[in-house]
Amino acid sequence: MIRPVIAGNWKMNKTIAEAVDFATRLREALGSRDDREVIIAPPFTALQAVAEALRGSPIRLAAQNLHEAEKGAYTGEVSAAMLSEAGCACVIVGHSERRTLFGEGNERINRKLQATLTEGLQPIFCVGETLAEREAGRMPAVIEGQLKEGLNHLTADDIGETVIAYEPVWAIGTGRTASPGQAQEVHRLIRDWLGQQYGAGRAAETAILYGGSVTPKNISELMTQPDINGALVGGASLDVATFMEIIQYQ
Ligand code: PEP
Repeated sequence: MIRPVIAGNWKMNKTIAEAVDFATRLREALGSRDDREVIIAPPFTALQAVAEALRGSPIRLAAQNLHEAEKGAYTGEVSAAMLSEAGCACVIVGHSERRTLFGEGNERINRKLQATLTEGLQPIFCVGETLAEREAGRMPAVIEGQLKEGLNHLTADDIGETVIAYEPVWAIGTGRTASPGQAQEVHRLIRDWLGQQYGAGRAAETAILYGGSVTPKNISELMTQPDINGALVGGASLDVATFMEIIQYQ
């Protein structure tokens, strides 16, 4: 049985002071509740301060991106070891905004996944098709291609450390959510693919999150689907009360 995972991706939002205030209030609101795994992903600048604010709490800290190299002449970039030192437990890898706005392809994402795992951090690996790909009937091929190339060289043990997020690009920040049935279809496809590659046991243990305009209104129905194990939340994770409503879905 996978403990539901609710992860908030803040993107390029919140100052250090705002991030610490959020983390402090979220921690208070969550109390000792531990039947949901809660993750927040602030911008790089706030990571260390938020890690301090969360010390001793079950809330886990994620970064939104990393560079795959250990160190060197990569101006503006941050390595896995740096994120680990700042207090991160997880890293979002392959978010669609990284793919489309920053030109990250599957091969680069694969190197980032390997760097994340080598450092002992948990990747939250994002996959998802565009509307044009879906309408052209290419959704299964696109998702399988992202999985195959993104997870290249990873072992079954690596998969055991990895969370996967299905985020249809047409649903991110658009207010247009995949229906629970549409999301379940893709989550099933992902789990079946993992089963073929790494064995049914490993596939059954892998948390597969849905992301794309998740709100307090739609979370419960999404979570009734058998292969949806949680949510990666963007816009609705920026307000403590709204994010708590999502965490406390029934
Ligand atoms: C995201 O950025 O991962 C996301 C799902 O955003 P939103 O919830 O705002 O659609």
